Amino acid sequence: MVKYSIIRKHEIQAAHRVYGHKGKCSNFHGHSYVFQIYCSSEKLDDLGMVVDFDIIRTTFCQWIDDNYDHRMILWDKDPIAQDVLAIDPTTMLVPYNPTLENMAEYLLTQIAPQLLNKHGIVVDKIVIDESSKCSASCEL
Ligand SMILES: [Zn+2]
Repeated sequence: MVKYSIIRKHEIQAAHRVYGHKGKCSNFHGHSYVFQIYCSSEKLDDLGMVVDFDIIRTTFCQWIDDNYDHRMILWDKDPIAQDVLAIDPTTMLVPYNPTLENMAEYLLTQIAPQLLNKHGIVVDKIVIDESSKCSASCEL
């Protein structure tokens, strides 16, 4: 038995801070985030595909653009979150401290099923790069 995977990549720019970090990650700073969205299957559809890339682009990648791209991403429990939101209403408050690991888990377990289950698509792994040297992943 073989296993196929497709990987859709998507890049955005966003700012964040990691609340409680003891070093400079607690300062506001930005990244060019590169998301790698994995879908795997042991069989292919009639066209010979795991998933049509266009479905990933128009749902998941669009959600990332709408919610994270060129925005400040802050944990909703960060004590400065409400003040920043008052200054910049485009600030995206998220229910997790915005590390790569937490972002990958949230996208994998909350957003991907919400957007893609109705298309019969299961995202089974997400890798996020915040630089050429630093990445994290979360998988089912
Ligand atoms: Zn960072």
